Formats: sequence, structure tokens, C-alpha cells
Amino acid sequence: MKKDKKVVTLAYGCQMSERDAETLTQITRQEGYTSSDDLMDADLVIINTCCVRESAENKILGKIGELKRLKERNPNLKIAISGCMVQQPGALERLKKRAPHIDIWAGTHNLHDFSALLHQAEQGEKVAEVWEEPKMTIESTPQAEKGKLQANVNIMYGCNNFCSYCIVPHVRGRERSRKPEEIIQEIRDLVSSGCREVTLLGQNVNSYGQEFSPGYDFADLLQEVDQIPDLLRIRFITSHPKDLSDKLIETVAHGKKLCEHFHLPIQSGSNFILERMNRKYTREYYLGRVEKIHAFLPQASLTTDIIVGFPGESERDFELTLETMDLIHYSQAFTFMYSKRSGTLAAEMEDQIPLDVKKRRLQRLMSVQNQKSLEWRQQMIGNIFEILAEGPSKTNPERLVGRTRGNELVVFEGQPEQIGSLVNVRITEAGSWTLFGVIES
Ligand code: SAH
Ligand code: SF4
Repeated sequence: MKKDKKVVTLAYGCQMSERDAETLTQITRQEGYTSSDDLMDADLVIINTCCVRESAENKILGKIGELKRLKERNPNLKIAISGCMVQQPGALERLKKRAPHIDIWAGTHNLHDFSALLHQAEQGEKVAEVWEEPKMTIESTPQAEKGKLQANVNIMYGCNNFCSYCIVPHVRGRERSRKPEEIIQEIRDLVSSGCREVTLLGQNVNSYGQEFSPGYDFADLLQEVDQIPDLLRIRFITSHPKDLSDKLIETVAHGKKLCEHFHLPIQSGSNFILERMNRKYTREYYLGRVEKIHAFLPQASLTTDIIVGFPGESERDFELTLETMDLIHYSQAFTFMYSKRSGTLAAEMEDQIPLDVKKRRLQRLMSVQNQKSLEWRQQMIGNIFEILAEGPSKTNPERLVGRTRGNELVVFEGQPEQIGSLVNVRITEAGSWTLFGVIES
């Protein structure tokens, strides 16, 4: 008897890449595959790729190389590479030459057509399909996987911002918003299958609905999602600072389930660099937005992304970033060295920064932020926070783990029947990455 077909899906990069990988897994399930983590036992391996930085691409190329050996051992194994890396202009031919052992290549815009590519590969063909533009109606995308406590829900696709360093608009196309009624229905379905927390995803959720007439914006969507019974929490990423409206901040402040956490990437604290990055805001404007958030939500958690070593960044520009971080108490910052992405404007700028300077700046930034993150967690000690109990802690399986509304991870002693519900936890200790606490009755 033929054994069940097994698929291993690996996702690199952002939540949207993870969400796409979930879609691909769902499609293979309809084709008779079951999910597995065991590469040795796989009939199909899918890698959904990221190309936002060279380091991500190098990691993926390494993995593709490893899979060659696996295929030598199991010639029936099929390997599919999908997503952003494949979608880059001119990348497909280069990749095909480099990795002839791959069976399926698929771009970001034709993931929904994956079963057709899979059928061909199962017949022994090598297939590659990369659409230049999205052709599908976006509502034909499979919905988030049911039966989980937390789900990521796409509310829009693509990006119109063209930050000068960023490849995303080049590989994900222009911004397209899903219809509110489709999003609400998807979330209702998820909730009836046990989901209690949703994260609404978009490259810039704050510009959701720009193309709708009559007007309907992200704050309107949040107000509607907030009304869905039995849903406990709503999160959203990412907020571009330039489009963070007063209405949105006030909506989060008045919402019942809307978590007071803003991921608000600043990228740099220097106006000269922000302008070259095409971010369309100044440091002063950004600080004004933070002030507004704190005026309405004094407890709000802020997280950010920062790039060091953008072309033309002087020591003074970098100091301005450090100074800005001193003014804003981020609970967490994702810090990156600038990486040249071919096809973007910044890749053509002349004053590229040497690698050793970028490394030094990154180290400095990270040590400042690690200290700040620890201080942030320490000031939480002694206070009570509402936690959604997610399940057993990976590192302390006899304890539970969950998150505050501000997205801070907390490990605490609790009962298995509390998983999926909200509990009040008093923070007792702040570790380097995690908080520890006890349930308050
Ligand atoms: N849409 C989101 C983020 C998308 S990419 C936003 O606008 O905030 C995630 C992060 O990767 C970015 O915020 C940026 O900090 C970083 N990033 C993007 N391109 C990069 C590059 N070429 N080099 C280094 N970091 C980059
Ligand atoms: Fe990239 Fe800027 Fe769009 Fe974010 S907003 S995806 S950083 S172009």
C-alpha cells in the first residue's frame, strides 16, 4: 500500500511569507498530502522564500543546497521554491541554473495556482511559473487555517510606498485591499473553529482601503472586527508612521479587544537619511505620533525596525538614531544592517557604507536596545497584566506561556484548562527575553 504523502513547508521572512506558506500547505492537503516536520520522510518540500536582505537569501540558498543531497538519497522527492526570491526580476533564470534539482518554481502572484504546478511535477516535469502581475481576484486566496488559537489574516497585499532600500513593492506588487465583509467573514469562521486572537496583516495596514469608495479605512475595519463575539484579541502589523491617523489611535484606545501595541518602524532618527529612504516623515513628526499614542494609551507598547549603514549615513546620522531611541522606550527593536537590493533606488546610491562600519553600528545599536528592552521588562515587575494563555511553555513545559496585550512573552504557572482564556498575571521576574509571573485570582 502506498504510504501517505508527506509535505514539509518552510517559510523564511515576514508574517506574510508565513501566511503564504500556510496557503501552500492547505493546497497540498487538498492534493492528499499531510504536513510533517521530518525532511527525511518528505515526498514534497516547499520553501517559501524572502529576499528583503542578502542574509536571508544566503540562508535560503544554503538550504536549497542541502536539499540536493536529500534528493540524491530519495530521487522521488519533489522540491518547490516559491515566493519573493523567485519573483525578483531576472532571478528565475539565475536560480534555475544554480539549482537544477528543483522541480517547481513559483512567484508570489501565482501561489494559488500551485496545485496545477504540483500535478505537472508529480508527472516528472520541471516547472516554473512567475506572473509579473497579480491576475487572480484576491478573494480566491485560501483563508487562514482553522482550529488554532491564533491566526494571521491578510487584509491587504502589496505596497505602494517604494522606500528606497526596499524590494517588497518590486516582488509583491501594488497595494490591494480585501473587502471588509470578506475579512469579517473569515474571522467569524476562524472564531467558530476556536480562534481567539487574530493578527491583521499588511505591509502598511494604516493605508488599508485607500481604493474604496465610499471611504472606509483601517480604523473602520478595526471597529467592526472589535464587535465579533468570542474573539478576545486583535493585533495588527505593520503601521507605517506616515499614515498613522489620530482616528486610528483613538479607535485602538476605545476598542475592547484591540491590543495597545504599535509596531511603528522608524528606520532612522536622522531626517537626512529618512528623506533619502523616501519614508515621507521626519523625526519630529514621528515623535509627535508617539506622543499622541501615549496621550491616549499611556500603557501602549511600541516596537520598531531600524536600519544602520544606509548609503550616506554619517556618524552624526547614526548618533541621531541612538538619541531618538533614548527618547522613545521601545519594548523591542528589530535592527538590521542595510543590504543592497538590486532594482531599488538605494542600490544605485554612491556613498555605500563599508561592512565593518555597518557591523560596528549594529553592535552598538543592539547593545543600547537590549538594555532598553530589559529596562522595559523590569518596570513591569509587580504589576498585573492580562495574558492570553497560549499553551505549555517550550522551555518550561510544566508551565504555561502567553502574551500581554503589549505582546510581551510571559511564562507562568497555570492549569491546562486555562489555555485559550484570559488570565491576570502578576509579573515577578524579568529574564533576558521572557517575563515570569504568577496568576492573581
Ligand atoms: N512593510 C513593513 C516592513 C517590511 S520589511 C514596513 O514598512 O515597516 C521589514 C523590515 O526590513 C523593514 O522595516 C526594514 O527595517 C527592513 N529592511 C527592508 N529592506 C531592507 C534592506 N534593503 N536592508 C536592510 N533592512 C531592510
Ligand atoms: Fe518596504 Fe517601505 Fe513598503 Fe514597508 S512600506 S514594505 S519598508 S517599501
